Amino acid sequence: MTRTPKADTSLDQQPPLYPTLDSWVTGYFTPMFLHRVGDGTRQRWCTEWWIHPEAIGRLTLLWTTWETARCDPSLKAAWWNDLDHHLPLLLAPDGAFRACRPQTTEQAGIHAPAELPLAEPAPLGYQET
Ligand SMILES: [Zn+2]
Repeated sequence: MTRTPKADTSLDQQPPLYPTLDSWVTGYFTPMFLHRVGDGTRQRWCTEWWIHPEAIGRLTLLWTTWETARCDPSLKAAWWNDLDHHLPLLLAPDGAFRACRPQTTEQAGIHAPAELPLAEPAPLGYQET
């Protein structure tokens, strides 16, 4: 019995709909998911999201898996599960944007806590104990 190869609809065959993370965030993510963020909500967003490494990491994962799921509908449920995991963490009051204050004409913007927690280098052999 000969099997017909499954059509390859991976990203190797199709260019991404959004070629950059920035284009996906501004063209898809923010219009689709940030309509509930604003005054009177506990969710936090930063218009300068690209200076927050945690946001870049989470959004890059969501963008790349969204592009993959766009070409393979069997992955869409998994993508929504990923979104439901990352979105509340990203927008949480204690999340990546917890210290953000946008720049105004009177004051500079703030995007990081005044003090970051430190980690001392681990001693040699610490994993062997
Ligand atoms: Zn910020």
